[in-house]
Amino acid sequence: MVDIVSRSEWGARSPRGSDTTTWSSRTEYIVHYSEGPTDQSVKSIQDFHMDSNGWSDIGYNFLVDVEGTAYEGRGWLVIGAHATGHNTSGIGVCFIGRDGDATSAAKDTIRALYDEAVRKKGGSLSAKGHRDVGSTSCPGDDLHSWVHNGMPAGGGSGSGNGEDDMVGLRKGDTGERVKYLQVILMKAGFDLPEYGADGHYGDETEKAVLAARKSQGSEQDFGDRITGWAAAQIMTAYVKNVA
Ligand SMILES: [Zn+2]
Repeated sequence: MVDIVSRSEWGARSPRGSDTTTWSSRTEYIVHYSEGPTDQSVKSIQDFHMDSNGWSDIGYNFLVDVEGTAYEGRGWLVIGAHATGHNTSGIGVCFIGRDGDATSAAKDTIRALYDEAVRKKGGSLSAKGHRDVGSTSCPGDDLHSWVHNGMPAGGGSGSGNGEDDMVGLRKGDTGERVKYLQVILMKAGFDLPEYGADGHYGDETEKAVLAARKSQGSEQDFGDRITGWAAAQIMTAYVKNVA
């Protein structure tokens, strides 16, 4: 089961109207990106769709942010406004961010929503990127290739999950594995208030790494590299915080 932030929880406005379809008509699962900042709120996306585009509601069925949190858009069976000609057949899921911003956590949630849809339908859905059914760059090269690789767990970084993904990272590193580390740090309760999960292992991440280690009793005084012990301590802090 995927934890989904409900419309009332994110403060959704009421739709001006809605049409529903059935699970037997749902045959596609279409991934999008918002092509905006990763901290854009779901509410502001809804406002834009309703006030600027004149739609009855937020266009997507679900949205997923950079931390892997899922938000209810129109939900499973309300017909969306996300892919012309494919709104009845397709469940539209939007990653909030630009090409390359999607973390392993975000991808895992997009995958989990897909699995949930298959379970609810009791049959398979064809997973696609928006560009497969329309003339658009959406959902960006990274998400598009990930979808066509079968939406592998762990963001498709290939080195497994959790501790293994972090070990060996050093201050100054950039990329997907750093983003993964940053998301885990935030979920463990160590905020990155200035830069968030930006994929750059800088001063802010260094401080959070050290704080996470100390929270688990480490007597080390460095946070500029991820040793095996550091990874284990960070994952322990994470598991304790989300439990
Ligand atoms: Zn799209």
